[in-house]
Amino acid sequence: MATIMLTEPFTTPPQRNQRIAYGALVGALSSWPLALNLGLFTIYGTPEFALLVGNVFSYFFNLKRRLILTLNNAKEIAKDTRQFSFASISGPISYKAGQYLEWTLPHEGTDMRGMRRYFTIASSPTEGDIKLGVKFAPQSSSFKQNLRALEEGKTILAGQLAGDFILPKDANKKLVFIAGGIGITPFRSMIKYILDTDEKRDVVLFYSNKTYAEIAYKDLLTEAAQRINLRSVYLVNEKEGVPGGFPVEVEFITPDMIKNKVPDYAERVFYLSGPDAMVTSYKKLLRGMGVPRKNIKTDYFPGFA
Ligand SMILES: Cc1cc2nc3c(=O)[nH]c(=O)nc-3n(C[C@H](O)[C@H](O)[C@H](O)COP(=O)(O)OP(=O)(O)OC[C@H]3O[C@@H](n4cnc5c(N)ncnc54)[C@H](O)[C@@H]3O)c2cc1C
Repeated sequence: MATIMLTEPFTTPPQRNQRIAYGALVGALSSWPLALNLGLFTIYGTPEFALLVGNVFSYFFNLKRRLILTLNNAKEIAKDTRQFSFASISGPISYKAGQYLEWTLPHEGTDMRGMRRYFTIASSPTEGDIKLGVKFAPQSSSFKQNLRALEEGKTILAGQLAGDFILPKDANKKLVFIAGGIGITPFRSMIKYILDTDEKRDVVLFYSNKTYAEIAYKDLLTEAAQRINLRSVYLVNEKEGVPGGFPVEVEFITPDMIKNKVPDYAERVFYLSGPDAMVTSYKKLLRGMGVPRKNIKTDYFPGFA
């Protein structure tokens, strides 16, 4: 029950604290020797009853409906990276900057990886549309081939809103965002949200890509540098193709670089988003620098090297 029923994504609440409360409630109820005599019948504290109560609890937190979205437009925002803008025809969706949805795109000739994917909502809740930033591999899955070919006005389904990779409630907390490649999408959402709400947050962004051409959302990041004093450190593996004057460093992130660019790093909360290997290695690097576990938040994007 704990490994299959309790963890079923469709019925678990979207955020960690809610999931802990849900698990504790179901656990406590299923081990409680309950026998509630209601006259006509008696309710016993069975695991089934515990799950039923847990699901009612969870119902209040979950996005209850499957959204139907239509494609407004799609455009290239960096090399092999496209932004898709959708309108929800199922009414507005309430989400926090940095959260993600499970997307379903039924299509013919579905490959082994199926017709569902998780994608971060790259737009901010302050924007009218729902944006995605998607990276395409040279040999894309059938899902991605069909997403790329989706025509304006055509529909896609989304549901199961979830994610704890969101801004801290306390706007005075100083932050460091570390993004690898398409791992920038939750930060795009958060930065746009900060810009639109005029929140005063102190943020430093480290954004790594293999090449300059893969850097997405340059306009927004430049605007944020001017308006909310976002400090961005762009890192690439090769100097080739970088236009003169663009402030990019051909380096990997090192402890010395963090100490140099962010002298008050010990007071900050770090957000890491990107391929598994990158997130794991930077988490290790930060732990080695003495950053406490509670000050490191991670978002893994499987399927990228
Ligand atoms: C919470 C969350 C948020 C995400 N947000 C985004 C986002 O905003 N933008 C985005 O582009 N992606 C995002 N992803 C990743 C996305 O869900 C896909 O896993 C990823 O884009 C790979 O897509 P694909 O399987 O269609 O493979 P493709 O990108 O078409 O293929 C890439 C290559 O990787 C290989 N590959 C793909 N998946 C795997 C795997 N699991 N194991 C081993 N090899 C694999 C394929 O064989 C292929 O060669 C997110 C994932 C999570 C969990």
